[in-house]
Amino acid sequence: MGVEVVKNYINGRWVESKAKDTQDVINPATGELLAKTPMSTREETLQAIEAGKAAFNRWRATPALTRVRHLNRIRDAFEENFEELSKILTMEQGKALDESRGEYRRTIENLECATSVPSLQMGYNTEDIASGIDEMVIKQPLGVFFCVAPFNFPAMVPTWFWPFAIGCGNTYIVKPSPQVPLSQVKQFEIIHKLGLPRGVMNMVHGGLEAVNALLESPDTVGMSFVGSTRVGKLLYKKAGEQGKRAQVQGGAKNFLTVMPDANLERTVPAIMTSFFGCAGQRCLSGAVLLAVGEIYEPLKKAVVEGAKNIIVGNGLEEGVQMGPMASKSGMDRVLGFIDKGVKEGAELLMDGRGIQIPGYEKGFFIGPTIFSDVKPKMTIAREEIFGPVMSIVHVKDLDEAIDVIHANRYGNASSVFTTSGKTARNYQYRVKAGNIGINIGVAAPIATFPFSGMKDSFLGDLHGQGQDAVSFFTENKVVITRWF
Ligand code: NAD
Repeated sequence: MGVEVVKNYINGRWVESKAKDTQDVINPATGELLAKTPMSTREETLQAIEAGKAAFNRWRATPALTRVRHLNRIRDAFEENFEELSKILTMEQGKALDESRGEYRRTIENLECATSVPSLQMGYNTEDIASGIDEMVIKQPLGVFFCVAPFNFPAMVPTWFWPFAIGCGNTYIVKPSPQVPLSQVKQFEIIHKLGLPRGVMNMVHGGLEAVNALLESPDTVGMSFVGSTRVGKLLYKKAGEQGKRAQVQGGAKNFLTVMPDANLERTVPAIMTSFFGCAGQRCLSGAVLLAVGEIYEPLKKAVVEGAKNIIVGNGLEEGVQMGPMASKSGMDRVLGFIDKGVKEGAELLMDGRGIQIPGYEKGFFIGPTIFSDVKPKMTIAREEIFGPVMSIVHVKDLDEAIDVIHANRYGNASSVFTTSGKTARNYQYRVKAGNIGINIGVAAPIATFPFSGMKDSFLGDLHGQGQDAVSFFTENKVVITRWF
């Protein structure tokens, strides 16, 4: 029996793609083929756009409270299916089951936050801007939006956007990562049963051809992209040429700074989660550890001790803390970086290559890997690795730490560990990164806050989640009134 090719969801119906090209969906812990993703054609993608366009006027006219009642139903159904959804996520992506549960908590929080759209998007009103003349802003939805999603948070990332978009009265198309389509398939199966009007939510699988169709159609109004900066920049340019709204959340290289006055006992567990949680495949993962002054030697020792205790394995097994790389190509890429670190002269304190997990010989595993004596110009200190690799750089003071951070092209997240309020304040004021952690290893904003990012980690102005999302998904219309 052949393995299933996942279907698109267009206009309230499951539709088989006619595309000849498919991509394998592989369980990264076992190497097992789970399904295939079709590389949907332009015509198929245009059908999804047409469905969104046809549904827009009626959905827009649906009272906002009725619209968000649908979000509430979806929220409750995700809660009821919480364990199954989390398992599917681990199966296709590899992360530990507890991490999948964490991702679904956040997914649900996004839905909860978006149910406030009616009170978040009130607009504003001023009387008598001149005698007897009033002025107001009304916020209106724009039409069909879409997102292009990455492989690392396949369940949550689309919910940074679509609950807010449809809550505001737009219609939507999700384009999942072809590597991990199954979480979205399951979410759409749930949504399908809940009576959302046809065409409000659609899903098209695929790659270049589908994304180009979404970008080039005059009937889509805006794009949210999350993925690598290289691809994000290409799509941002194209969206601009087409006159569409766009927000691009790109790659990252996150620096964590440990000051000599840090509380090491509390700091090390936070560092472990930051660098090795989700096997380093988070856009908020720590990548470079900047050890300031005399903390360097004790910190090196403490992080190696901490990393030795991390349990690596199949994420579906309770107790496993770190799963595999999400794909073979991802694993090969990370191994390439580790080789490069060795070649460029960094000291390999802990080597995660060749780790054997009994019973999972075909899995894409790399264990926690730690380099010390890393120089800022080395490849492993500069480029995004996206794996469980820590590079420790010794710096003399906070100024040098910030110089190293600012020499990097990315600015997604950065954390400082210190017991000094003055140092912490200095850090949050000066460091050019969108998400700052003070004694926090993974500075992940909750649903009511914008998911920020600076420099090459973000293109656009309005971010995902919260009030920013409401602004991105609505147009301000000014109305000036005088009655004779
Ligand atoms: P990717 O850029 O390879 O792919 C992202 C999406 O773009 C996928 O849906 C893919 O199908 C599509 N795509 C790829 N090439 C394309 C092309 N030429 N034209 C049109 N579409 C194309 O990224 P990825 O490997 O899936 O995700 C990992 C990256 O995502 C990392 O760089 C990570 O830092 C970043 N990320 C950033 C954030 C953030 O909030 N800043 C969050 C999660 C992940």
